[in-house]
Amino acid sequence: MNLLDLSPPAAAETLRQWLAERGPGYRYRQVAPRLWQRPVASWEEATDLPRELRAALDEAFPLPRLRLLTSQLSKDGTRKFLWGLADGAAVESVLIPEGRRQTLCISSQSGCAYGCVFCATGRMGFERHLATWEIVAQVRELALDPELGKPTNVVFMGMGEPLHNWDAVDRALTTLNHTMGLGIGARHITVSTVGVVPNLRKLAARPEQFRLALSLHAPTHEQRLAIMPVEKKYSLDRVLPALQAFKRRITFEYVMISGKNDSLEDADRLAALAAPLGALVNLLPLHPGGTPGLMPASAAHLKEFGARLEALGVTATVRRSRGLDIDAACGQLRVAIERRRQVAAHQDASVE
Ligand code: SF4
Repeated sequence: MNLLDLSPPAAAETLRQWLAERGPGYRYRQVAPRLWQRPVASWEEATDLPRELRAALDEAFPLPRLRLLTSQLSKDGTRKFLWGLADGAAVESVLIPEGRRQTLCISSQSGCAYGCVFCATGRMGFERHLATWEIVAQVRELALDPELGKPTNVVFMGMGEPLHNWDAVDRALTTLNHTMGLGIGARHITVSTVGVVPNLRKLAARPEQFRLALSLHAPTHEQRLAIMPVEKKYSLDRVLPALQAFKRRITFEYVMISGKNDSLEDADRLAALAAPLGALVNLLPLHPGGTPGLMPASAAHLKEFGARLEALGVTATVRRSRGLDIDAACGQLRVAIERRRQVAAHQDASVE
Protein backbone atom coordinates (compact mmCIF):
# COMPACT_ATOMS: atom_id res chain seq x y z
CA MET A 1 0.00 0.00 0.00
CA ASN A 2 1.19 3.52 -0.79
CA LEU A 3 0.67 5.57 2.38
CA LEU A 4 1.75 8.72 0.55
CA ASP A 5 -1.41 8.52 -1.55
CA LEU A 6 -3.64 8.68 1.54
CA SER A 7 -4.60 11.74 3.55
CA PRO A 8 -2.31 12.15 6.60
CA PRO A 9 -5.02 11.10 9.12
CA ALA A 10 -5.94 8.05 6.97
CA ALA A 11 -2.26 7.07 6.68
CA ALA A 12 -1.78 7.42 10.46
CA GLU A 13 -4.88 5.29 11.11
CA THR A 14 -3.65 2.61 8.68
CA LEU A 15 -0.31 2.56 10.50
CA ARG A 16 -1.99 2.46 13.91
CA GLN A 17 -4.05 -0.59 12.97
CA TRP A 18 -1.12 -2.34 11.31
CA LEU A 19 1.16 -1.70 14.30
CA ALA A 20 -1.53 -2.75 16.79
CA GLU A 21 -1.60 -6.18 15.12
CA ARG A 22 2.13 -6.48 15.68
CA GLY A 23 2.60 -5.01 19.14
CA PRO A 24 2.41 -1.53 20.56
CA GLY A 25 -0.04 0.47 18.40
CA TYR A 26 1.08 3.73 20.00
CA ARG A 27 4.24 3.52 17.89
CA TYR A 28 2.27 5.03 14.98
CA ARG A 29 2.97 8.39 16.65
CA GLN A 30 6.63 7.74 16.04
CA VAL A 31 6.17 6.27 12.55
CA ALA A 32 3.55 8.52 10.90
CA PRO A 33 5.62 11.77 11.12
CA ARG A 34 8.27 10.12 8.93
CA LEU A 35 5.85 10.31 6.00
CA TRP A 36 5.66 14.10 5.71
CA GLN A 37 6.52 16.00 8.89
CA ARG A 38 10.07 14.65 9.29
CA PRO A 39 10.21 12.71 6.05
CA VAL A 40 12.60 9.88 5.30
CA ALA A 41 13.64 8.71 1.85
CA SER A 42 13.16 5.10 2.97
CA TRP A 43 12.17 3.40 6.21
CA GLU A 44 15.77 2.30 6.61
CA GLU A 45 16.61 5.93 7.40
CA ALA A 46 14.20 6.03 10.36
CA THR A 47 16.93 4.88 12.71
CA ASP A 48 14.89 5.73 15.81
CA LEU A 49 12.76 2.65 14.99
CA PRO A 50 13.87 -0.95 15.68
CA ARG A 51 15.56 -2.62 12.72
CA GLU A 52 12.92 -5.37 12.36
CA LEU A 53 10.14 -2.78 12.32
CA ARG A 54 11.91 -0.80 9.59
CA ALA A 55 12.23 -3.94 7.47
CA ALA A 56 8.55 -4.82 8.02
CA LEU A 57 7.46 -1.26 7.14
CA ASP A 58 9.55 -1.40 4.01
CA GLU A 59 7.82 -4.59 2.98
CA ALA A 60 4.26 -3.45 3.80
CA PHE A 61 4.47 0.26 2.90
CA PRO A 62 7.38 1.02 0.55
CA LEU A 63 7.88 4.76 0.08
CA PRO A 64 7.88 5.61 -3.63
CA ARG A 65 10.15 8.37 -4.90
CA LEU A 66 10.29 10.60 -7.95
CA ARG A 67 13.43 10.15 -10.01
CA LEU A 68 15.33 13.37 -10.69
CA LEU A 69 16.11 13.27 -14.42
CA THR A 70 17.78 16.65 -14.55
CA SER A 71 17.82 20.01 -12.83
CA GLN A 72 18.91 23.46 -13.93
CA LEU A 73 19.94 26.42 -11.79
CA SER A 74 19.46 29.93 -13.17
CA LYS A 75 21.74 32.88 -12.38
CA ASP A 76 18.75 34.46 -10.60
CA GLY A 77 18.46 31.45 -8.25
CA THR A 78 15.47 29.87 -9.99
CA ARG A 79 15.89 26.11 -10.01
CA LYS A 80 14.07 23.76 -12.32
CA PHE A 81 13.57 20.03 -11.77
CA LEU A 82 12.50 17.40 -14.28
CA TRP A 83 11.09 14.35 -12.47
CA GLY A 84 10.72 10.90 -13.97
CA LEU A 85 7.65 8.85 -13.03
CA ALA A 86 7.50 5.05 -12.88
CA ASP A 87 5.74 4.69 -16.26
CA GLY A 88 8.24 6.89 -18.11
CA ALA A 89 6.21 10.12 -17.93
CA ALA A 90 8.13 13.25 -16.89
CA VAL A 91 6.94 16.39 -15.11
CA GLU A 92 8.53 19.63 -13.99
CA SER A 93 8.68 21.73 -10.84
CA VAL A 94 10.30 25.14 -10.49
CA LEU A 95 11.66 26.58 -7.24
CA ILE A 96 11.64 30.38 -7.16
CA PRO A 97 13.46 32.10 -4.30
CA GLU A 98 12.33 35.62 -3.36
CA GLY A 99 13.89 36.84 -0.14
CA ARG A 100 12.82 34.45 2.61
CA ARG A 101 10.08 33.03 0.46
CA GLN A 102 10.76 29.83 -1.47
CA THR A 103 7.92 29.18 -3.88
CA LEU A 104 7.65 25.81 -5.54
CA CYS A 105 5.60 25.66 -8.72
CA ILE A 106 4.31 22.10 -9.11
CA SER A 107 2.68 20.00 -11.84
CA SER A 108 -0.64 18.21 -11.56
CA GLN A 109 -0.66 16.38 -14.91
CA SER A 110 1.78 15.09 -17.49
CA GLY A 111 0.99 17.24 -20.51
CA CYS A 112 -2.28 19.16 -20.65
CA ALA A 113 -5.53 18.87 -22.56
CA TYR A 114 -6.29 22.58 -22.73
CA GLY A 115 -3.92 23.71 -25.47
CA CYS A 116 -3.39 27.38 -24.58
CA VAL A 117 -1.38 28.69 -27.52
CA PHE A 118 1.27 30.44 -25.39
CA CYS A 119 2.11 27.33 -23.35
CA ALA A 120 4.75 24.67 -24.09
CA THR A 121 2.86 22.09 -22.01
CA GLY A 122 -0.35 22.76 -23.93
CA ARG A 123 1.43 21.92 -27.18
CA MET A 124 2.39 18.47 -25.82
CA GLY A 125 -1.23 17.41 -25.47
CA PHE A 126 -2.59 15.42 -22.54
CA GLU A 127 -0.72 12.35 -21.34
CA ARG A 128 -2.13 11.52 -17.92
CA HIS A 129 -3.27 12.79 -14.55
CA LEU A 130 -0.78 12.62 -11.71
CA ALA A 131 -1.72 10.62 -8.63
CA THR A 132 -2.00 12.49 -5.35
CA TRP A 133 1.33 11.16 -4.13
CA GLU A 134 3.08 12.21 -7.36
CA ILE A 135 1.82 15.77 -6.87
CA VAL A 136 2.82 15.96 -3.21
CA ALA A 137 6.10 14.14 -3.83
CA GLN A 138 7.37 17.15 -5.79
CA VAL A 139 7.33 19.01 -2.45
CA ARG A 140 8.42 16.00 -0.39
CA GLU A 141 11.52 15.50 -2.55
CA LEU A 142 12.66 19.02 -1.67
CA ALA A 143 11.89 18.45 2.01
CA LEU A 144 14.17 15.38 1.82
CA ASP A 145 17.03 17.47 0.46
CA PRO A 146 18.94 19.02 3.39
CA GLU A 147 20.23 21.84 1.17
CA LEU A 148 16.81 22.87 -0.16
CA GLY A 149 14.28 21.94 2.50
CA LYS A 150 10.52 22.35 2.44
CA PRO A 151 9.36 25.34 0.37
CA THR A 152 7.38 28.08 2.13
CA ASN A 153 4.83 28.45 -0.68
CA VAL A 154 3.35 26.14 -3.29
CA VAL A 155 1.62 27.14 -6.51
CA PHE A 156 -0.18 24.79 -8.90
CA MET A 157 1.17 26.52 -11.99
CA GLY A 158 3.39 23.81 -13.44
CA MET A 159 2.37 21.31 -16.08
CA GLY A 160 -1.34 20.55 -16.34
CA GLU A 161 -4.64 22.07 -15.31
CA PRO A 162 -5.18 21.24 -11.62
CA LEU A 163 -8.96 21.44 -11.74
CA HIS A 164 -9.00 18.90 -14.59
CA ASN A 165 -7.48 16.45 -12.07
CA TRP A 166 -9.69 17.49 -9.19
CA ASP A 167 -9.85 14.28 -7.13
CA ALA A 168 -6.06 13.96 -6.88
CA VAL A 169 -5.53 17.72 -6.41
CA ASP A 170 -8.25 17.84 -3.74
CA ARG A 171 -6.40 15.19 -1.71
CA ALA A 172 -3.00 16.75 -2.45
CA LEU A 173 -4.23 20.08 -1.03
CA THR A 174 -5.11 18.27 2.20
CA THR A 175 -1.68 16.64 2.49
CA LEU A 176 0.14 19.89 1.68
CA ASN A 177 -1.82 21.82 4.29
CA HIS A 178 -2.66 19.37 7.08
CA THR A 179 -0.69 19.68 10.31
CA MET A 180 0.04 15.94 10.10
CA GLY A 181 1.07 16.43 6.47
CA LEU A 182 3.51 19.01 5.12
CA GLY A 183 1.88 21.76 7.18
CA ILE A 184 2.06 24.55 4.58
CA GLY A 185 -0.48 27.28 5.41
CA ALA A 186 -3.51 27.41 3.10
CA ARG A 187 -2.80 31.07 2.31
CA HIS A 188 0.60 29.97 1.04
CA ILE A 189 -0.90 27.48 -1.43
CA THR A 190 -2.29 28.80 -4.71
CA VAL A 191 -4.32 26.89 -7.26
CA SER A 192 -4.06 28.40 -10.71
CA THR A 193 -6.77 27.41 -13.18
CA VAL A 194 -8.19 28.32 -16.56
CA GLY A 195 -11.61 28.01 -14.90
CA VAL A 196 -13.03 24.47 -14.95
CA VAL A 197 -16.34 25.68 -13.56
CA PRO A 198 -17.75 22.60 -11.74
CA ASN A 199 -14.48 22.03 -9.90
CA LEU A 200 -14.00 25.74 -9.27
CA ARG A 201 -17.15 25.45 -7.16
CA LYS A 202 -15.73 22.44 -5.29
CA LEU A 203 -12.53 24.36 -4.53
CA ALA A 204 -14.57 27.36 -3.34
CA ALA A 205 -16.51 25.05 -1.00
CA ARG A 206 -13.36 23.91 0.84
CA PRO A 207 -13.13 25.63 4.21
CA GLU A 208 -9.38 26.35 4.02
CA GLN A 209 -8.22 29.68 2.65
CA PHE A 210 -6.41 28.30 -0.41
CA ARG A 211 -5.60 31.07 -2.85
CA LEU A 212 -7.05 31.10 -6.33
CA ALA A 213 -5.44 32.46 -9.47
CA LEU A 214 -7.51 32.57 -12.64
CA SER A 215 -5.56 32.30 -15.89
CA LEU A 216 -7.54 35.01 -17.62
CA HIS A 217 -5.11 36.27 -20.28
CA ALA A 218 -7.75 38.14 -22.31
CA PRO A 219 -10.61 40.45 -21.37
CA THR A 220 -13.23 39.38 -23.94
CA HIS A 221 -14.71 36.10 -25.13
CA GLU A 222 -13.37 36.50 -28.66
CA GLN A 223 -9.84 37.40 -27.61
CA ARG A 224 -9.68 34.60 -25.06
CA LEU A 225 -11.03 32.08 -27.56
CA ALA A 226 -8.19 32.99 -29.93
CA ILE A 227 -5.51 31.97 -27.41
CA MET A 228 -7.30 29.60 -25.01
CA PRO A 229 -9.54 26.89 -26.52
CA VAL A 230 -11.06 26.25 -23.06
CA GLU A 231 -13.08 29.43 -23.58
CA LYS A 232 -15.35 27.37 -25.88
CA LYS A 233 -16.45 25.16 -22.98
CA TYR A 234 -16.00 27.38 -19.94
CA SER A 235 -16.50 30.88 -21.27
CA LEU A 236 -15.88 34.02 -19.25
CA ASP A 237 -19.61 34.54 -18.70
CA ARG A 238 -19.67 31.23 -16.79
CA VAL A 239 -16.28 31.46 -15.09
CA LEU A 240 -16.54 34.98 -13.68
CA PRO A 241 -19.83 34.41 -11.79
CA ALA A 242 -18.38 31.19 -10.32
CA LEU A 243 -15.57 33.27 -8.78
CA GLN A 244 -18.08 35.05 -6.57
CA ALA A 245 -18.27 31.90 -4.42
CA PHE A 246 -14.66 32.55 -3.26
CA LYS A 247 -14.68 34.44 -0.01
CA ARG A 248 -11.03 35.30 -0.42
CA ARG A 249 -8.81 37.39 -2.61
CA ILE A 250 -8.50 36.26 -6.21
CA THR A 251 -5.69 36.95 -8.65
CA PHE A 252 -6.04 37.26 -12.40
CA GLU A 253 -3.01 35.99 -14.30
CA TYR A 254 -2.51 37.92 -17.51
CA VAL A 255 0.32 37.05 -19.89
CA MET A 256 1.04 40.07 -22.09
CA ILE A 257 1.27 39.12 -25.76
CA SER A 258 2.17 41.86 -28.18
CA GLY A 259 -0.76 42.80 -30.42
CA LYS A 260 -3.10 40.16 -28.95
CA ASN A 261 -4.27 41.37 -25.55
CA ASP A 262 -2.07 44.31 -24.60
CA SER A 263 -3.78 47.48 -25.85
CA LEU A 264 -4.79 50.15 -23.36
CA GLU A 265 -8.42 49.44 -24.29
CA ASP A 266 -7.75 45.87 -23.18
CA ALA A 267 -6.53 47.31 -19.87
CA ASP A 268 -9.84 49.17 -19.52
CA ARG A 269 -11.83 46.01 -20.25
CA LEU A 270 -9.66 44.00 -17.84
CA ALA A 271 -10.18 46.59 -15.10
CA ALA A 272 -13.95 46.32 -15.61
CA LEU A 273 -13.73 42.56 -14.91
CA ALA A 274 -11.31 42.80 -11.98
CA ALA A 275 -12.76 45.73 -10.04
CA PRO A 276 -16.15 44.22 -9.07
CA LEU A 277 -14.42 41.08 -7.79
CA GLY A 278 -11.67 43.01 -6.00
CA ALA A 279 -9.20 40.86 -7.96
CA LEU A 280 -5.49 41.59 -8.13
CA VAL A 281 -3.89 41.40 -11.56
CA ASN A 282 -0.53 39.78 -12.19
CA LEU A 283 0.93 40.95 -15.48
CA LEU A 284 3.32 38.36 -16.83
CA PRO A 285 5.77 38.79 -19.66
CA LEU A 286 5.44 36.05 -22.26
CA HIS A 287 8.46 33.79 -21.83
CA PRO A 288 10.60 34.62 -24.88
CA GLY A 289 11.15 31.85 -27.38
CA GLY A 290 8.47 29.67 -25.78
CA THR A 291 5.84 30.11 -28.47
CA PRO A 292 6.47 30.37 -32.20
CA GLY A 293 4.63 33.31 -33.72
CA LEU A 294 3.92 35.16 -30.46
CA MET A 295 5.94 38.12 -29.28
CA PRO A 296 6.21 39.36 -25.69
CA ALA A 297 5.03 42.89 -24.94
CA SER A 298 7.91 45.17 -23.96
CA ALA A 299 8.79 45.83 -20.31
CA ALA A 300 7.89 49.52 -20.76
CA HIS A 301 4.50 48.56 -22.15
CA LEU A 302 3.82 46.19 -19.25
CA LYS A 303 4.46 49.11 -16.92
CA GLU A 304 2.15 51.40 -18.87
CA PHE A 305 -0.60 48.76 -18.95
CA GLY A 306 -0.18 48.21 -15.20
CA ALA A 307 -0.37 51.96 -14.54
CA ARG A 308 -3.63 52.14 -16.50
CA LEU A 309 -5.11 49.37 -14.33
CA GLU A 310 -3.96 51.14 -11.17
CA ALA A 311 -5.52 54.39 -12.40
CA LEU A 312 -8.79 52.49 -12.70
CA GLY A 313 -8.53 51.29 -9.10
CA VAL A 314 -7.18 47.78 -9.76
CA THR A 315 -4.02 46.60 -8.00
CA ALA A 316 -1.60 45.29 -10.61
CA THR A 317 1.79 43.68 -10.20
CA VAL A 318 4.24 43.45 -13.04
CA ARG A 319 6.11 40.16 -12.71
CA ARG A 320 9.53 39.73 -14.16
CA SER A 321 10.49 36.61 -16.07
CA ARG A 322 12.48 34.25 -13.89
CA GLY A 323 15.02 31.74 -15.06
CA LEU A 324 15.50 33.27 -18.51
CA ASP A 325 18.84 31.50 -18.88
CA ILE A 326 17.22 28.12 -18.23
CA ASP A 327 14.09 26.54 -19.72
CA ALA A 328 11.97 27.77 -16.82
CA ALA A 329 8.53 28.35 -18.34
CA CYS A 330 6.05 25.56 -17.81
CA GLY A 331 6.86 22.62 -20.09
CA GLN A 332 9.96 24.15 -21.65
CA LEU A 333 12.54 21.97 -19.92
CA ARG A 334 10.82 18.75 -20.92
CA VAL A 335 10.44 19.97 -24.49
CA ALA A 336 14.12 20.97 -24.57
CA ILE A 337 15.25 17.60 -23.18
CA GLU A 338 13.06 15.68 -25.64
CA ARG A 339 14.39 17.79 -28.50
CA ARG A 340 17.97 17.09 -27.42
CA ARG A 341 17.15 13.35 -27.23
CA GLN A 342 15.64 13.43 -30.72
CA VAL A 343 18.68 15.25 -32.10
CA ALA A 344 20.99 12.72 -30.41
CA ALA A 345 18.92 9.80 -31.76
CA HIS A 346 18.98 11.37 -35.22
CA GLN A 347 22.76 11.83 -35.03
CA ASP A 348 23.17 8.20 -33.88
CA ALA A 349 21.02 7.04 -36.78
CA SER A 350 23.09 9.14 -39.23
CA VAL A 351 26.33 7.63 -37.88
CA GLU A 352 24.91 4.13 -38.35
S1 SF4 B 1 -1.49 27.28 -19.52
FE1 SF4 B 1 -2.14 25.68 -18.08
S2 SF4 B 1 -4.16 25.04 -18.88
FE2 SF4 B 1 -3.18 26.18 -20.55
S3 SF4 B 1 -2.17 24.58 -21.76
FE3 SF4 B 1 -0.65 25.34 -20.28
S4 SF4 B 1 -0.79 23.94 -18.56
FE4 SF4 B 1 -2.65 23.67 -19.77
